Amino acid sequence: MSSSTPAPLAGLVVAVDGTSGSGKSSTSRGVAERLGLRYLDTGAMFRAMTWWMLQHGVDVHDPAAVAARVAEPDLVSGTDPLAPAITVDGTDVAVAIRGDDVNAAVSPVSAVPEVRARLLEMQRAVIARESATGIVVEGRDIGSVVVPDAPVKVYLSADPAARAARRSAEQGGGDVDATRESLLARDRIDSGRATAPLTMADGAVHIDTTGHTLAEVIALVVSLVEDAGART
Ligand code: C5P
Repeated sequence: MSSSTPAPLAGLVVAVDGTSGSGKSSTSRGVAERLGLRYLDTGAMFRAMTWWMLQHGVDVHDPAAVAARVAEPDLVSGTDPLAPAITVDGTDVAVAIRGDDVNAAVSPVSAVPEVRARLLEMQRAVIARESATGIVVEGRDIGSVVVPDAPVKVYLSADPAARAARRSAEQGGGDVDATRESLLARDRIDSGRATAPLTMADGAVHIDTTGHTLAEVIALVVSLVEDAGART
């Protein structure tokens, strides 16, 4: 940990939830970098699980078929905010998990309770391992299920048009309409599932990022974290 990191932040968990494309990853990484915290992208874990299912010919729309294979992939998540890393069975899948095939399949796979149970256990193990430093964790159910007692909880949202424009710009200028439909389809499934749906957790601060720059949103979350640190 850098010597400039204030001691009260050690052990802090910052839970960042929100809709697809609302700026969770950029914000979470930026906050972690600024404060010398670790970073866990739980969406990447669900994506990696989905990628493995597709690679192994599992019908991702058959929850029983997905559940039957859930224990097989060996997932390892890095926690460096400057170089987020994820491997499956030793293969670096950081790029592969961002493909259209995974985008289309990840929400059905993530709705399978056995998938959530396995990844929940892994997420809590990573968070416990990094507890001495503190960690920013992003996802859909972090403040509600994974770390319900997190001292800082943020819920990010943004106008669908803004989300689609940002996401297609990140992808080098894709079809904005198709991107918007893909984001909204994921939101519908993620919000409607029975197990750990996307929701604003009790105690979460809601930030609509539509009219804000990334730097502004990072500064706002950093100030929330510093306030929480001051209270501990
Ligand atoms: O954050 P990202 O968009 O990469 O997440 C991909 C998908 O993973 C989400 O649409 C959702 O289906 C699933 N997910 C989840 N719970 C989390 C994080 C992600 O269900 N904590």
